[in-house]
Amino acid sequence: MPEWINAEITEKREWTDDLLSLRFRAAIGAFKAGQFVRVAMEIDGELVARPYSLVNSPAESELEIFFNIVPDGPLTPELASLNAGDVIKVTDKPYGFLTVEDLPDSRHLWMLATGTGVGPFISILKSGKAWPKFEKVVLVYSVRTARELVYQEVIADISKQYRSQLSFVPVITRELIDGAINQRVTAALETGQLEQMAGIRLNADDSHVMMCGNSAMIADVTNLLKTRNMRKHLRREPGHITTEKYH
Ligand SMILES: Cc1cc2nc3c(=O)[nH]c(=O)nc-3n(C[C@H](O)[C@H](O)[C@H](O)COP(=O)(O)OP(=O)(O)OC[C@H]3O[C@@H](n4cnc5c(N)ncnc54)[C@H](O)[C@@H]3O)c2cc1C
Repeated sequence: MPEWINAEITEKREWTDDLLSLRFRAAIGAFKAGQFVRVAMEIDGELVARPYSLVNSPAESELEIFFNIVPDGPLTPELASLNAGDVIKVTDKPYGFLTVEDLPDSRHLWMLATGTGVGPFISILKSGKAWPKFEKVVLVYSVRTARELVYQEVIADISKQYRSQLSFVPVITRELIDGAINQRVTAALETGQLEQMAGIRLNADDSHVMMCGNSAMIADVTNLLKTRNMRKHLRREPGHITTEKYH
């Protein structure tokens, strides 16, 4: 059974008014890049817990989560009010199958994120696990406005290092920005713009698709991929699609 352990906040980064990252120290067990822990705070005498993906790579000593404030949500406004030195609770065991280790063999890996769903993909990119397994890795990161497209320095560093293997495709749906796709991921998939920017085809023979974030995006893209003969990946029946729905 997982147990609650203390986690001391070491750093808070406020990317925008409602988009934050927290780093903390906690003695959790070994984890695979892409997994999540449960994070909890005592609010009005009750322990309120929610799952959060780890953004750091397993090699880093501090843990990191990335989240947006849901105004009526019980936990996120409280999490956002924390500062370095404050103590929260986390589960000592990581969970989840959105990991490279849980994927079948394939030539190309597509990672599709909406908003804070980019977190586990940053962890995977930092961990280095994808490079020996896939010829090409595509990170598609969809947000509404350019200022919500964060972790840019990390992505730029990794892109520089793995230029021949990583394609980064920013998607900004509500602003017209040079170098970014200005339509929803589903539309960009249908028009071919996504594959054009990535420089490779997305098909059942060569591709595995990981998706994380908004469940509507995940459902819509999954339906489109079905028309390309791609199906959910299950341990007992290998497929092409692995997902993690945040909300
Ligand atoms: C496996 C897993 C991993 C997750 N990892 C992350 C993560 O790394 N970062 C992250 O930001 N969230 C993540 N989430 C969502 C997170 O657990 C919380 O639900 C979220 O942070 C809101 O918490 P809350 O207590 O404030 O509101 P909740 O009571 O959890 O939700 C209130 C309402 O807001 C909706 N909602 C939940 N999350 C969002 C969101 N991000 N944007 C808009 N509406 C939302 C819910 O569907 C619900 O209707 C994850 C969820 C799952 C299942």
